[in-house]
Amino acid sequence: MSRPDDSAAAAHAHPLIIPIFIPQLGCPHQCVFCSQPAITDTPRRCPTPDQIRQEVSRFLKYGKRPSSTVQISFFGGNFLGLKPASIQRLLEVAAEFVQNGTVDSIRFSTRPDTVCEKRLELLAGFPVSTIELGVQSMEDQVLDLAERGHRAADTVAAAGRVKEKGYRLGLQMMVGLPGDSEEGAMETARRMAALAPDFVRIYPTLVLEGSPLADWFRSGRYRPMALDTCVTLVKRIYLFFKNRHIPVIRMGLQASDGLNAETGLVAGPYHPAFGHQVYAEIVLDAISAALKNMTGLPDTLVIAAHPRMISRVQGLKKENLSHLKQTFHLEKVSLVQDATLAKDHIRVADQRIVLP
Ligand code: SF4
Repeated sequence: MSRPDDSAAAAHAHPLIIPIFIPQLGCPHQCVFCSQPAITDTPRRCPTPDQIRQEVSRFLKYGKRPSSTVQISFFGGNFLGLKPASIQRLLEVAAEFVQNGTVDSIRFSTRPDTVCEKRLELLAGFPVSTIELGVQSMEDQVLDLAERGHRAADTVAAAGRVKEKGYRLGLQMMVGLPGDSEEGAMETARRMAALAPDFVRIYPTLVLEGSPLADWFRSGRYRPMALDTCVTLVKRIYLFFKNRHIPVIRMGLQASDGLNAETGLVAGPYHPAFGHQVYAEIVLDAISAALKNMTGLPDTLVIAAHPRMISRVQGLKKENLSHLKQTFHLEKVSLVQDATLAKDHIRVADQRIVLP
């Protein structure tokens, strides 16, 4: 079977992804922040071919957007670290759905240090289109503290191999890792951008039950980032990638990732609408900058936005509106929908501003 042309996936910014979790399978050890069972609520067993068939069929039956690109995705472990026979078995089952035309391609995430020529050869003939690398950091001392067991140089080599073979390259980074800093995270972003990924994901470090980090947290050795600090840092990183035309396809774990916040989350900057908060802060910055440059602000400020942008303009619990009122001493901020505006345009008083 030949490699699928993934240009369709590129055209669809949001393919329908059918996740098949392989929690911590293929991992040489446990990284300090990791507790996949807390994230996925899935026991540490490789799914059987029948379980995969059932799961994929269930998604195909109930999934939204049947017209979009559909991908089966192996997540939550180290795909290329699995035994060759397991890799083959998983790919064979997923490929059945590509062969019968219900799925377009396969993607998976893996550790950078398992992306070697021999492992990539196992993919030959399967319809794999996208490989995501768990980069986490491009600073060796941060990788060491997180007990990742690989260096930044492994990521550079792996990214080169993935691109050379013609796969789409995704890179995942984390912020708030032990020993990391805001500038360290920006440096990771810069070095990731230099690898020309097709997309990135940004995850805050959470303290999860069952992870070594939970012990570190309880003994006082690790302090997670505060939610607001983390949102602001991820916003900086998002804008950094956006300015380089690198899509950020995920910011933060979402409710749909299956994190059991009641039992799985010990501490850390988790919010089910983390990405929304980042976008809301970007909008708030843009409006604030426009207001700072305006002379003679009205008592009632009218902001107009496309209906689909209203929630980002308001922010969570309308916090953006109250912030604007307080900061600029406004009597009232009134938000109106205007479907004629582009989604990245808003009107503030009479001024039209373009969101970054
Ligand atoms: S972070 Fe990734 S490589 Fe590390 S233990 Fe978890 S799944 Fe495995």
